[in-house]
Order: sequence, then C-alpha cells, then structure tokens
Amino acid sequence: MATTRHSRRRLRACHECDLLVALPPLRPREKADCPRCEHTLATRHDKPAERSLALAVAALIMLTLSVAFPFISFEARGVTNRIELTETASTLVGFHEPLVAICVLLTVIILPTVYLCGVIWLSLGLLGRHVLPYSRGIARTLKHLTPWMMADVFVIAALVSLIKIAGMADVSLGLSFWTFCAYALLLLLTTQSIDTDWMWFALASEPLAPEGARSGELAAPQGLSGCTTCGLVNRLDAQGRGRCRRCGETLHARTPVSRQRTLALLLAAVVMYIPANLYPIMSTTSLGNTSPSTIIGGVMLFLQHGDIPIAVIIFTASVVVPIGKILALGWLCYAVRHRGEPLSNVTRVRLYRITEFIGRWSMVDVFVVAILVALIRAGELISVEPGPAALSFASVVIITMLAAHSFDPRMIWDDLPQRPRRAWRDRLPRRIATVSSRKESDDA
Ligand SMILES: [Zn+2]
Ligand SMILES: [Zn+2]
Repeated sequence: MATTRHSRRRLRACHECDLLVALPPLRPREKADCPRCEHTLATRHDKPAERSLALAVAALIMLTLSVAFPFISFEARGVTNRIELTETASTLVGFHEPLVAICVLLTVIILPTVYLCGVIWLSLGLLGRHVLPYSRGIARTLKHLTPWMMADVFVIAALVSLIKIAGMADVSLGLSFWTFCAYALLLLLTTQSIDTDWMWFALASEPLAPEGARSGELAAPQGLSGCTTCGLVNRLDAQGRGRCRRCGETLHARTPVSRQRTLALLLAAVVMYIPANLYPIMSTTSLGNTSPSTIIGGVMLFLQHGDIPIAVIIFTASVVVPIGKILALGWLCYAVRHRGEPLSNVTRVRLYRITEFIGRWSMVDVFVVAILVALIRAGELISVEPGPAALSFASVVIITMLAAHSFDPRMIWDDLPQRPRRAWRDRLPRRIATVSSRKESDDA
C-alpha cells in the first residue's frame, strides 16, 4: 500500500535508524520527526534565506570588530598587558605549540568565516532566484563544517579565564570581548537558521523517489539509502554503495568499517588521554617561582579558592565528558554486536546523540590555556606558559569527535527483529499519519 512507483511523495530515510518515511508538507515553524527514533528529519523556517543572510552578515560584522579591537587587558603589580583576539593563537606559536595555535585559529575564526561566507553566497543566490556558481559544493561543505566551529566554547573559556585571574590581577574587558560574545551567539543562530531541506529543494529541486520504495520499512534492505547531506533517497548498487543524484555525496547502506574505525579512534583517544593528565597543561610563574599544573591540579586549585562552579565546569569538560564519551561510544560499539543489553534502541540512540553533542565542549580547557598564555606575560614577575598536555588534550577532543562521527547510528537498529510494518504505522505522529494516508490514495 505504501509502495511508490515514481510518485511525487518526498521520501526520507532517517539518518539514525534508517526507517523510510514520507515527509508531510511542512508549514513555517513546523518540523517532522522520525516516528521510530525521534530524529528530526526536516525543519521549516519562516523566510529561511532572508533570515540566514541577515544573521550571517551580522555575525561576520561582529567577528571583524572582534578582531579589530582589544579583547581583554590585565594589570598586575604595575605591569599592564592588553591582547587582541588573534594573539590567543599567535602567542602559542611563540611557545612552540603551533598545532594548538592552528586548532584555536581554525575552530574560532577561520572555519566560522568560511561558513558565514558560504551561507551569504548561497542565500544571495537563493534570494535572487539565480543559483550562484559552486553553490552545491558550498552547501555540502557547510554541513561538514558545523561541528568544528567552537566560538561559543571560546566564550565559556574566556569567562573561566577571567575568574581564574581575577584574584591576581585587575582585568578589564575590551570592546572586542562583547562583540565576540555577540558573534558567538549570531553564529549559533545562523547554523540553526539553515533549513537544509528547503535549501536543497531551492538549489536543485527534488528528483523523483526511486521506483518501488516502500515507506514504513528500513531503507537498506530495499537497496536504498538517504543522503546524509541533502536527505534525498537514492538507490544503491549491489555492493551497497552509491552517489547522491542531487548533491553528489558518497552513500553507503552502512558506513564501511564504522565500528572498527570508531574503536581504533577511541583507542587512540585513550592513549592520548594519559599524557594529557600526566603532564602539566600550563605552568604559572609568579615572582620567579614556576609551578606547573595538570588538568586535575587546576580543578583542585579552583576548589581550594572556593570557585566551586568553575571547578565543576572544568572537571566536567576535561574529565567527565571525554571519559564518558569514550565509555559510551565503546559500549555502543559492543552493544551493536551483542544482544540482550538492558537498554532499548531508543535509549542507545539518545546516548549516541549526547556523545555527539557534548564532545566539542571539552575544548574549554585548551582555550583557557590559549587565553591565559597570551594575556599573562610579564616575565619573571608573572607569566603563564603552555604545557605539553595542551596538545595531547586537544587531540583527545578532536579524536573523540572523529570517533563519534565515524560511528553509524543506523547499526544500533540492525539487531532489531523486523516487526510488522503496521507497528510503526500506528506510532506515526498525527500530522505525518494523516498526510501519508492522503498521499497513498493519491498514489493509487
Ligand atoms: Zn529514525
Ligand atoms: Zn545528497
């Protein structure tokens, strides 16, 4: 009944459980969720191109102002120092930490700039009803850039740094600190304003769904796969591979060697987590005395000073999140191959979503080091130097993020015995259900 010959229905294969569903027509501010795993399939915004363009232009202006004016200044024992935003990266190069510097520069300034310019380019084309050159490539790139932009994490790191040095120096915030906060917020709103489903429809319309596709069933057994970038459902070849007809993204029934790659990356993260904790993340020199501090040492220092909320933030970001993420992903890799686990598949996929969402927040401690190293530079009197753990810890964050990306959540559902289609149909949200049944009569 739900079979389509080349029907006009817009099919989507859920990225997280592989269920094939028919998208209902969405009005602005409505979204369609997967009836099985609650993953959001599509969200519709009001005037998406105008909104994205306005936000991206505003964010880019705020970023330009953030780079142009002083960020933070401090005064201690008669010595003053004022830094600009880019100095948080350039000072690290002077301390022979070019990789950490690149990491800061990329995640806070360069990738967001590329992203915002891409959004502006696409929006201008869509508003002018004339798609500009390279738009498809840019739209594909935006999707891959999103998780690596960390301006919001940098704001938290700046606040932690301020509290950390408040006791030993007079700190004042420059104009660029406030514009940077505005930039971080606008960047976040820009990423949320992107209506991927509408954008791809406007860029390249919607090719017809593959012949014989049956909604309410898994896509892979039907030889189909949903594009992770534009959402279009495509037919795969006999080896379970293919290329999206609309955006050109490479497709697989299941990401090849996903479990093995995730486990290998987790192992690498565990190995890097050892030096990240054993070596000092930074050394503070005060009146000629140098005292190195590890991640845990830094947390204990905050506790001794009574800054319990900051201690909790650093402990959560640097210890709980990385270890929790490694354990959760490791367990998911085990659970997709072994039945009889106590948690339901919905709980497992929620666990996966949490690990994917929280990973980037671990970068707080690395950014704190970058800010303090740039700001506190008064030689023997008072200064901060980066320690070897900064690079190890930054690599733990990046490797665990890559591990979460390489895990294919559709594997979670593969163990599930095939239930009759009616079971999913009964659980469809009302809006989707009514539209599906109306569409089916259209197909007949
Ligand atoms: Zn789903
Ligand atoms: Zn695609």
